Amino acid sequence: MAKRTPLQLTPALLFTLICAAPALAKSPVATGTGGAVATISEKASESALKILNQGGNAIDAAVAAAATLGVTDPFSCGIGGGGFMVIYLAKENRVITIDHRESAPAAATYRSFTGPDGKALDFETVVASGLSVGVPGTVRGWHEALERYGSMSFKQVLAPAIDVASKGFTVTPTFSRLVQMNEPKFAAFPDTAKLYLRDGKALPAGSVLRNPDLAKAYRDIAARGYRAFYSGPMAKAIVDTVTHPRTAAGRTVPAGTMTLADLSNYEARIRQPIHTTYRGYDIYGMPAPSSGGTTVLEALNILEGYDLKSMPRDRAEHLYIEAARMAFADRNAYLGDPEYVDAPVEGLLDKKFAATRRALIPLDRDPGVAEAGNPYAFVTDPSYPMVPRSAAAAQRPESMHTTHLAVSDKDGNIVAYTFTIESWGGSGMVVPGYGFLLNNELTDFDFMAPAPNVIEGGKRPRSSMAPTIAFKNGKPAFTVGSPGGATIITTVLQTIFNYVDLGMPMDQALNAPRISSRNGSTIDIEPGFPGSAQARALEGYGHKWDPQPDEIGAANAIVFNQDGTVTAVSEGKRHGIGTALVQHKAH
Ligand code: GLU
Repeated sequence: MAKRTPLQLTPALLFTLICAAPALAKSPVATGTGGAVATISEKASESALKILNQGGNAIDAAVAAAATLGVTDPFSCGIGGGGFMVIYLAKENRVITIDHRESAPAAATYRSFTGPDGKALDFETVVASGLSVGVPGTVRGWHEALERYGSMSFKQVLAPAIDVASKGFTVTPTFSRLVQMNEPKFAAFPDTAKLYLRDGKALPAGSVLRNPDLAKAYRDIAARGYRAFYSGPMAKAIVDTVTHPRTAAGRTVPAGTMTLADLSNYEARIRQPIHTTYRGYDIYGMPAPSSGGTTVLEALNILEGYDLKSMPRDRAEHLYIEAARMAFADRNAYLGDPEYVDAPVEGLLDKKFAATRRALIPLDRDPGVAEAGNPYAFVTDPSYPMVPRSAAAAQRPESMHTTHLAVSDKDGNIVAYTFTIESWGGSGMVVPGYGFLLNNELTDFDFMAPAPNVIEGGKRPRSSMAPTIAFKNGKPAFTVGSPGGATIITTVLQTIFNYVDLGMPMDQALNAPRISSRNGSTIDIEPGFPGSAQARALEGYGHKWDPQPDEIGAANAIVFNQDGTVTAVSEGKRHGIGTALVQHKAH
């Protein structure tokens, strides 16, 4: 047996240890001063911090983190998708939002997702095909954010992500598991298989993955701005992929109808945020086409009528579950792209409407699936057009595809940003030569008319993304958001409920078991929850759990403390633990 030599602290070893220090320091909670960031990816949080340290503001840092997430978390997000950004501009003391949701190609109609028999097409067949791909909005959204509210160029903010894509990053167990889950979908597309599979199998955790094609795409955008994406060779490659999907031998998938004109006509929208008050907080959220803000805010309005603090915890949680149920019934019935559908948002957010919904909730039992309410009675304009209500949508299984990041800077600007390519791995199609996956966002539309959220040319599918910023006494208090499809809404709502009503510190509010009631006959819960005292207490109200518990969401938050410090908070357990960083750590 070789004799073990004692460890010599040579200059080379010292250097290695110092370089490794940030990795050892990975932590889901950080408190300090200056800027702060929380994301689910260590590299992405580091990119944001780098930009903040170079003098960039929160908007610059958010784009830098997002671009890096596109490299390290490519199955959740990227330039092949879209998203929603809520921004607080400290100097002007106002909140604005950037909607850069994907849109349906102009040629889409309400019949695009029905077959010749008039029935809805098979969901999974549509997902992994050109039919599901919406015109990507991410690059246009980043452009608007930087151009209007940032202080740096694309070239500066994309540099950290280009570095990660070129030099590579270590594949995490979560990354490897996601590829494994997607092996059949990815194997159908040779350009995707080449990037993410080795001999048809997922890259193992610990291997280093480089994505030089994505580095090239980012470099093109750095050089030519958003036009590099929406016209020219990259646009042509996107359209070719959608309209002539390159599939493995013996496989065919339906083609989509996206054109170069669809890409060059794409625009992001600057929208006013929606707002409500909740127990002394001013809460700002994302308006339609996301249902996230409206649904979270309606549920808060319902909850506000209860004195939750004086109740036993199980009763308060029962009411949280029921408030979410009511708000989901209304979401499903009324919300869609506001450029196509006159959704009665004013009524949905009226406190008196919330009172009518609250009146239907028994304090001691679950009344079962709820019907939508009538928000039109609370709309000021009596001639307001009614939208066709959709039938109660079936509750779909939801996971935590998508990503959310939170950034603030030393001047008090805040960005809450959720963006996505929809399912894990989106449509499954990587654009050849450019290394990014195209979304399957159009499957967020209802497949069958009439419904406010049915697919139409140019329309944006209804989302659940809910980036949220809260203020108290006119000052930022906290920001939170999460991935998770429709469970995004309950994760954001429950985190606010845990923090404000149950008085948990934000890390506990995030780490607590998630309970997602979306007006179905069962409630989604996480592994380990069934059988717990908390679960048993809620069963006493008649609540029933989904038989297959699964991890819900991957939230990120920042708390603005009263002493002037900030606390960035990411997941302590879920999605392989997130990374929170601050510019100047408190000791
Ligand atoms: N497409 C979903 C939405 O916009 C997000 C995807 C997910 O988080 O699963 O609501």
